[in-house]
Formats: sequence, structure tokens, C-alpha cells
Amino acid sequence: MLAGGLLSGCLANSDSEQSALTAALIASNPDIAALIEANPDMPLGWTEDFWDDALLQAPAYPGSLWRVHDLGRPQPPLARPEPCLSSAPPTAAVGLFEGDSIDKFEGDSLTLWSVEGGTLVASGQKNNRIATTHSFGDVQVHLEFRMPTPTIGHGQFRGNSGLFLMGKYEVQILDSFDNPTYADGQLGAVYGQTPPLANAGAAPGEWQCMDVTFTAPRFEGETLISPARVTVDLNGVRVQNETEILGPTRFAALSTYQAHEPELPLTLQDHGDPGSRVAFRNIWALPLTSDPDE
Ligand code: MG
Repeated sequence: MLAGGLLSGCLANSDSEQSALTAALIASNPDIAALIEANPDMPLGWTEDFWDDALLQAPAYPGSLWRVHDLGRPQPPLARPEPCLSSAPPTAAVGLFEGDSIDKFEGDSLTLWSVEGGTLVASGQKNNRIATTHSFGDVQVHLEFRMPTPTIGHGQFRGNSGLFLMGKYEVQILDSFDNPTYADGQLGAVYGQTPPLANAGAAPGEWQCMDVTFTAPRFEGETLISPARVTVDLNGVRVQNETEILGPTRFAALSTYQAHEPELPLTLQDHGDPGSRVAFRNIWALPLTSDPDE
């Protein structure tokens, strides 16, 4: 049974621990089973069995108490978001979207995205990502986003996008305003790894500010020397603080680092469902490493 399965989705060591986790889950989210069962608009293939398998059978990172997407993992506490007041980028920043042209992005599905009233809007039609024409290593990224109204869908199917640093490491963008989902998939999560320290999501229809400071992983040959790290400020609230990234972010699975180039494009996610037509504005990136040739 789905509900029973949901309640066994975390790594309890005993029946009593399991019961405590079950109680905590119900207290934090009494309708989570109903939430999943009430998603008839899931794309084909995203069935109850799929969720059951994906969310209950996903592995845990070594040393973690929680499986990837563990439904028993505590929800982040609510934090009051600050208003997102748009400001001009630093002069040294690379402007990636300034309200009109999308020529700083590329991708097979770029034409599905639209520019509407000075905003860049995901299609909500097809799961795809667009990539910046510039590549970045260590970088500060600023973007502003707005969740669609009226809301459509629930959980991961409401306002889902994401900023993929180096095209590999996702800081989750989601409508997390009164929209429970697994903690490591909330707005500001390192997706599938680390929930945000707080839920600082603003209401749909309001502009929200995200500022990300990213340190790229370092490799010597094929060997990882230091993992990537990320700090995320969301609507004035720090939701990731020098968080170590465990490898490329994945759905319902672990990952390990594979050596890659020191600079790669950023990508933005179009989750491809009708509830996820997220709008963006004022996107810029500031490289944080100096060019030794200059
Ligand atoms: Mg996403």
C-alpha cells in the first residue's frame, strides 16, 4: 500500500525509530500520501508505482541518515522572505538575460522558451535545458524568478526549474509556497542531496531573488582533489552555506564525480509540465577566478 510504503521511506534502525519518524512525517505533512495520489496530471509514466519505487527505494549517500528524496526527512523551517528588489549587475558581470535578447543562451529547445514582457519564460511543454554560451568555473550567479499563477499541479510539478552550475550541479528552483515535497527537492536544495536550511519561498506571482556563489570542483587528472561547494541566498535568507556538493545532482540516485573541464556553461531547466512555466529576469554571472593571462 502506498501510504504504508511512504512511511517506511527512511533509514530507521528499529521499529521504535520508524514509528517516531512516521509520527514526525505525519505531523509535518499529514496529507503527503493524498498529495501524491492526487496528481492525476503527472506525465505518463509518473505513476504511483513509479513514485513508490523512486522515493522509497532510492539509496542513501554514505554516512547519511536519509535516502535520496526521503519523505521522512524533516521539512525545512519556514523563513520570512525579504522582498526581491531588482538591482543592476556589477559592471564586471556577464549579463545573461537583460529583458530582451536570449542570444546568451543556446539549446535544441531554445525556441520553445519565450520572451514575454521583459521576462524569459520556460515552455512547460517539454523537459529541456538551455545553456549559456559563456562557460564558468568559480562563479557568482544572480537570477530573479517568478512562479506562475494560477498554480497548477503539486510537488515537483509546480514551478519546477533549476540552475545547473556547470550544467551538472542543480540548485533547485520550485514553487515551495505551501507546496510540500521531499525536503531535498525544495526550493534552494542541492537537488537530491541537501535540503535548504529554510523555506524562504515567496508566493506565486511575486518576484524572488536567488544569489549563488559556487566553487567548482578541482581535479588532477581523473582524481577529485576538492569537491564543489555552494552558498545560496534566497530572498535575503541563506539557505545553503558552503555546502559540499556530493557529485552531479540526479533524480532518485547517487552519483560520483567524473573529471570534467574547469569551466562549463550554466544551464536553466524547463521541467516540461504545465505548472512549471517559470519566468526569469535579470540573470547575470560574475566569474570569481582571475585570468592568469591578464
Ligand atoms: Mg528542478
